[in-house]
Amino acid sequence: MNSIPFSHTSFPNLILRIHDTLRRAGYESYVVGGAVRNMLLNKAILDWDMCTNAPPNRLMDIFPYAIPTGIKHGTITICRFEQKCELTSFRIDGKYTDGRHPNEVQFDATLHEDLSRRDFTMNAMAYDLQNSCIIDPFKGIEAIKKKEIVCVGTPQKRISEDYLRVLRAFRFSSQLSFLIEKNLLECLINMSSHITRISKERITTEIKKLLSTRSVEIAMPYLCSSEILEHIFHSKLFSLSKKQYHHIGNVLSKAWANNKNTALQLALLFSFVLAYNDLLSASYARKNKQTIIDFCSSIRISNKEHDLISTLLFLSSYKVDETWSIYHIRYFLTHLPIEHHNVLRAMFFYTTFQQQTIPTLFLEAIQTYIPKKKLAINGHDLMSTFGLTKGKKIGLILKGLYRIVLKTPEKNERETLLSLAKSLH
Ligand code: ATP
Ligand code: MG
Repeated sequence: MNSIPFSHTSFPNLILRIHDTLRRAGYESYVVGGAVRNMLLNKAILDWDMCTNAPPNRLMDIFPYAIPTGIKHGTITICRFEQKCELTSFRIDGKYTDGRHPNEVQFDATLHEDLSRRDFTMNAMAYDLQNSCIIDPFKGIEAIKKKEIVCVGTPQKRISEDYLRVLRAFRFSSQLSFLIEKNLLECLINMSSHITRISKERITTEIKKLLSTRSVEIAMPYLCSSEILEHIFHSKLFSLSKKQYHHIGNVLSKAWANNKNTALQLALLFSFVLAYNDLLSASYARKNKQTIIDFCSSIRISNKEHDLISTLLFLSSYKVDETWSIYHIRYFLTHLPIEHHNVLRAMFFYTTFQQQTIPTLFLEAIQTYIPKKKLAINGHDLMSTFGLTKGKKIGLILKGLYRIVLKTPEKNERETLLSLAKSLH
């Protein structure tokens, strides 16, 4: 046990209440996992995990308003206002035979056994709220001090139980700027091809976290030497040199510092991969469309994210230079919803392999852009002013007016547009 730099006041009310409720019901409970690690690192805690010796069949009685999110695995989720805590009964995982899940789980476990099933030593600590101390049987604090990712137990055995741990190690390295302990790293490199056994959902959660940090460059040598992206995206295009991975890492780190957009991170990664394989130019855009669809369908992202990534890649394959007029740029921007224009700007900015700087005209076009739904008149105005009936003609007039507004935004006034509509009509 160790004295530690935080006290009860460091914990949200929700956690203290859960602990208190369980204590009154005669059970122990501890804060575990990433929350303890992040408290020691003075980092924000987004989700809280607790564990308890209360058996799964008692959890919903004690917390009747909880959500039984994974009751089969002894987990319930307790929410209060903005806060959320996952509470899990102490558990030992049985044999793993598929490289993904234990064949069965057993609940009459001790805290020590529960901690020993966890992946890395920094994630296998518990905070004892009763005695205000950390329980650290695997020397997680020492690993944190050394900024090192160390496996709980033998890497060979622990990684082959659940191959997602390969990606989790890289993800933590990226998020925390930690290096991976030598024996563990050797094992991760040897076993990375087994990542394909893991579900797309679990891979996607980790890959998104890995790419969305300010220190993603730390993980790049690992991604390169393990070839894990080639396995995840089923593509040799990700087989790049150390130097190329290093460059991608630097760009992604900077991009995340300025734009917290995970779709942009993925689009930048894909864009560099295409560029390093000499596949990025407008003439390839059509062909690349299928490649991007393939990349996106190797992971589990929403249709919205997929659309944004494809559009960013498609648009950024064009060279927007001095030969473009502001009208052309504004027209180009119509391909993306206005809320993503700054993301597109960032995409251009960071894809410096195009050896271009963003023309000031591009920025001006973004600032003066008027989205179609902000056109000062609509179909009803046209019908009532010109006695038109609903139909194609109205659409055509509105389209013509919108083009005029893209060229000259100052014309976006009701009277001006109605008189212009008269000539179009
Ligand atoms: P984050 O801050 O991103 O939430 P975390 O460490 O809390 O990081 P989670 O994925 O929320 O990570 O998992 C909570 C805890 O559960 C981990 O700290 C670890 O103890 C344990 N854990 C999660 N996934 C695994 C796994 N695949 N193998 C072993 N233990 C795991
Ligand atoms: Mg967590």
